[in-house]
Amino acid sequence: MDTLAAMDVELAALRQGYNCSCGRIHHLPIADIEVAQDVLISIPDRLRNLGFEGPVHLIADSNTLAAAGAVTVDALDQAGLSVSKTIFVTQEDTLVPDELALSKLFMEVPVAAEVLIAVGAGTITDLVRFAAYKMGKPFVSIPTAPSMDGYASAVSPLIVGGFKRTFSACPPLAIYADLDVLCKAPMAMIAAGFGDLVGKYTARADWEISRTINDEYFCQSSLDLMAAALELCTSNPEGLRKREPQLVKALMEGLILSGIAISMAGNSRPASGAEHQLAHYWEMRSLKENRHSHLHGTKVGVAAPLVLGIYSRVLGFDPSTIDLDALAESHQGPEAVEAEVRAHYGPMAEEILAESLGKRLTWEARKDRIRLIQGKWEEIRGGLAWLPTADAIRLMLKRAGAESSVEELGLPDEWVDDALRYARQLRSRYTILDLAAELGI
Ligand SMILES: [Zn+2]
Ligand SMILES: [Zn+2]
Repeated sequence: MDTLAAMDVELAALRQGYNCSCGRIHHLPIADIEVAQDVLISIPDRLRNLGFEGPVHLIADSNTLAAAGAVTVDALDQAGLSVSKTIFVTQEDTLVPDELALSKLFMEVPVAAEVLIAVGAGTITDLVRFAAYKMGKPFVSIPTAPSMDGYASAVSPLIVGGFKRTFSACPPLAIYADLDVLCKAPMAMIAAGFGDLVGKYTARADWEISRTINDEYFCQSSLDLMAAALELCTSNPEGLRKREPQLVKALMEGLILSGIAISMAGNSRPASGAEHQLAHYWEMRSLKENRHSHLHGTKVGVAAPLVLGIYSRVLGFDPSTIDLDALAESHQGPEAVEAEVRAHYGPMAEEILAESLGKRLTWEARKDRIRLIQGKWEEIRGGLAWLPTADAIRLMLKRAGAESSVEELGLPDEWVDDALRYARQLRSRYTILDLAAELGI
């Protein structure tokens, strides 16, 4: 099945402005998306269809130039579209999306360039997305690996002053992914993409519990958009390990659609929950301590079963049995939590405390929360009957050839314990980690 073609009607409706049952009108700013064989040689025609006559500026690194950039440049040359290039003489996994890389882009992109073409995976795409946004130029994404779900995204995670921060940017005007290129991507990147996709189960569960408990805005259509690709990939993970084109295509499409789901919801809710908070925590720690760096999706993948383990503990709990007096004894008030966050996060604490202000509860506020949760417990549990188990997800990851546990990834126990304790402070977003903390589990 072609998951993107199956969504064609939905995507066309989104481009027109889709009046959704969630109460909002969604718009899709991406004019053209194709994941197919031989798509690179069609790019000149596609650019002309989008109204561009050049000059065009293409950005790649040494690897992605060889994988897809050179073919694209040749096709543009032959079609008479003038093309200039910025090539990072390094590999995607060592290229850092920081001030230095950005300044190279700002120095080299000609003022006359009509459109930028980003040939690469996460790092290149994030750099170009931000530069294009700042320059007021459109950009086209040519993904070289189905490694993460940020291709369709409108934000850029960059490393500034040694810290990772997310900046406003623009989504690509078009995404053209060549299936032969994707199938030849490093296996670790394909496995990471699957890890990122598998994280959508817990992301959705977190969104559902927050909708029930906090009346948070919720859009079912954004989740439905990813469902077919998720189903196809998770029902045959071996196909990814064998680099079967049909599966690699479904994975890439699922990752692109997940980015579109994010733009529909207006934030990353449909694609990112507690599993991303844990992954984000480990990423910060690996930047700080300069060890255990892994691809984003790899971390998300191993975090998903951990989070599902917490789900199973929480859902197996009966909140009507809570002994409020005992819980009051052990309750940590806002000041105590703030002190703990300061001690743990050091120079980053101020920003984190501002983000997670709503998560530091007085005992009175927490008691109200517990009563609210008790009243909605059957609804919360009943809504999550579809949730897979930690073992089921671990098995899927194994079958895809991906790392399936923190042990396999070699993360220290301390990083795991700390992530479970402190990662929830990184975002205001409500997840199972917060529900567990409120109930004292
Ligand atoms: Zn992700
Ligand atoms: Zn909606």
